[in-house]
Amino acid sequence: MRYISTRGDAPRLDFGGVLLEGLAADGGLYVPDELPTISASDLADFAALEYHEVAARVLAPFVAPSLSVDDLAPLAQDAYAAFTHSDVVPVSALASGEHLVELFWGPTLSFKDVALQLLGRLFEHELARRGGFMTVVGATSGDTGSAAIEACRDRAGIELVMLHPAGRVTEIQRRQMTTVDSPNIHNVAIDGTFDDCQDLVKALFADRTYRERMKLGAVNSINWARVVAQTVYYVTTAVRLGAPERAVSFCVPTGNFGNVLAGDVARRMGVPIDRLVVATNHNDILARTHRTGEMSISEVRPSTSPAMDIQVSSNFERLLFELGGRRGHALAADMARFRSEDLLALAPEVLAGLRAGFDAGSATEDEVSATIAAVNEADERLIDPHTAVALTVARRDAPTGGWTTPMAVMSTAHPAKFGEAVLGATGCRPELPPALAALADREEHLTALPNDLATLREFVTARCTR
Ligand SMILES: *Cc1c(COP(=O)(O)O)cnc(C)c1O
Repeated sequence: MRYISTRGDAPRLDFGGVLLEGLAADGGLYVPDELPTISASDLADFAALEYHEVAARVLAPFVAPSLSVDDLAPLAQDAYAAFTHSDVVPVSALASGEHLVELFWGPTLSFKDVALQLLGRLFEHELARRGGFMTVVGATSGDTGSAAIEACRDRAGIELVMLHPAGRVTEIQRRQMTTVDSPNIHNVAIDGTFDDCQDLVKALFADRTYRERMKLGAVNSINWARVVAQTVYYVTTAVRLGAPERAVSFCVPTGNFGNVLAGDVARRMGVPIDRLVVATNHNDILARTHRTGEMSISEVRPSTSPAMDIQVSSNFERLLFELGGRRGHALAADMARFRSEDLLALAPEVLAGLRAGFDAGSATEDEVSATIAAVNEADERLIDPHTAVALTVARRDAPTGGWTTPMAVMSTAHPAKFGEAVLGATGCRPELPPALAALADREEHLTALPNDLATLREFVTARCTR
């Protein structure tokens, strides 16, 4: 398989190249030149397989020829052995009939682990194959940082520098990152905001010579390997809920559009998925785009579902590429206009395609809180605010008479990760799983740095030069 850029001007790469490259050289995102298919008989076979075995089967065509299925299978097995539920991604039913897809049984309790646990192992494998190394530099406002650290810790060939805004992540989130005691993990608390952290990372990458010398790489959600790793749980959930005989719909709490895009990829491959419902919090650029046909930027307002507090959904570009007939140069012009004007009107056929395959809605903070309380009441269980955004939209926006297929709601975080919001909604504080409870006593490892590029660069050079 070869990969092409959504903006039509970057070299075609194989999987190994796309994995290490992240963003394409023309500013676009890599997508496969052609999607493999999953047949009804594949789906029937999958019912008898373990999660890691389905992962190896689904992902094999995407990683060839860089990796063979014999290379991939043990990496998938090892990645998903790190999950504390034997089903890896279990599916449970609510009293009101929806199904929750529990994506939070990985080491850091958010859905980011599902892709990143595999990604860390793929990086290590590809670097060993090439005899190379890489310096991963990232910025986090919470979930991504700890998931990336857990994925890369102690892996050969990788140094990881993770920036977070000092004093602006929760204590649990900070401790999840800083209590990792591994020589290749470097936590940096920047005296500034999350945007300052992101700007520092961008500035570091902007220097081509430095980027090349340090082999800078990224783990953010524009990496194709993350998207494709996420298609697997759409497949396993569909099979569990009746595929291939019966179709399934999904409602997905959305920030950067990586999770729901994976559902669209699974659907294009032939998995019987009916509706994909895009659910946002009050930062609702995607729901507004779906409603009005215009993508327009507005201020980010903090919410109780911070992993979805975004201005622009970077992976949405991959969907625009598909819906626009895969015309890279035209999309490059559109994205340039969007950058300069903060506004993009979707072409009529693109908007029609969006509405044909997706529904979209946004949930207010009051609705989220009410949904957490309602589930606690009816099911005696606690759900996190990101999950509650999706469940709110799945319930409120159901067609008259209800969804015609089973509705699977993506549950993207363990409630204990967002304990304050859950406590506020229900009066109950979710219990920390043992792995998290132990963090309180561990030593923290972090370096405080000013919001200054030269200082950061000196730090990265000193810690990561080989
Ligand atoms: C990252 C994240 C999301 C949003 O996922 P996208 O792929 O960015 O749409 C939702 N919920 C949680 C808990 C997350 O960490």
